[in-house]
Amino acid sequence: MANLIYLSPSNHGKNSNKCLKENCYEDKHTRPIAEVCARYLKASGFDVIVAKESQNMAARCSESDARGAALHVPIHTNASSSPSARYLLFMFYKDSDVYRKIYNAVAPRLEAIYPGNLKAQFWKRATLYEINRPKAKTIYCELGFHTNKTDTDKFIHDPEMVGKALAQGICDYFGVPLKTSTAETTIPAAPSYSKGTAVKLKNTPLYANSTTKTAAARVTGTYYLWDGKVVSSRMRITNSKARVGLKGQVTGWINKADI
Ligand SMILES: [Zn+2]
Ligand SMILES: [Zn+2]
Repeated sequence: MANLIYLSPSNHGKNSNKCLKENCYEDKHTRPIAEVCARYLKASGFDVIVAKESQNMAARCSESDARGAALHVPIHTNASSSPSARYLLFMFYKDSDVYRKIYNAVAPRLEAIYPGNLKAQFWKRATLYEINRPKAKTIYCELGFHTNKTDTDKFIHDPEMVGKALAQGICDYFGVPLKTSTAETTIPAAPSYSKGTAVKLKNTPLYANSTTKTAAARVTGTYYLWDGKVVSSRMRITNSKARVGLKGQVTGWINKADI
């Protein structure tokens, strides 16, 4: 059975722990890091759970225990009243060989991509619920400071870079190579044409209705299926996810065959 990694991105709530980036807050930037990390871990042969937004810490720890996680990984970013404060921090139940082994695998991978090449910190912090509660060994990550400009500009909001490095560190800990793609083993799923599905269009003819033969324009970029219904081989699209299904928000019609 594959090792199960339980990723628990922060759950402080919408607009809590606002970061320096406009309209951003801790949960908004930690979840993409967890998702990228999960993708790489799955490609490398792990089972992975990313805790849902709706789950509080207790629910997450119970799920981690029930599913027999081999490693529990809360993913956070730090805050300080001093805007210059910045470092990587990993917290553990105790300072012992067992936890140093996890730190020694994970920390160097994050240090390698952290601007300024600062040394990460190891803290014993047994009082934190999501450190002392899970049965699995836990590495509680504070991946830089959302109150620091360097970290917000060059680190925290690059989930591909940070999530991949975290996955690499976890792979190192378990002694397995990081795989970057599941291409050899995955059969692509049949395309879905349901309501809200994002479609990438390139110079695609756009029609005013389902029957006209003349295109009104051509569109390029990401659009969303407005209702997922096919009428005369055409489908309605809209230009933002938020406008899906809303009256008066149809950008136009495209041929289903052009998707
Ligand atoms: Zn942010
Ligand atoms: Zn946090």
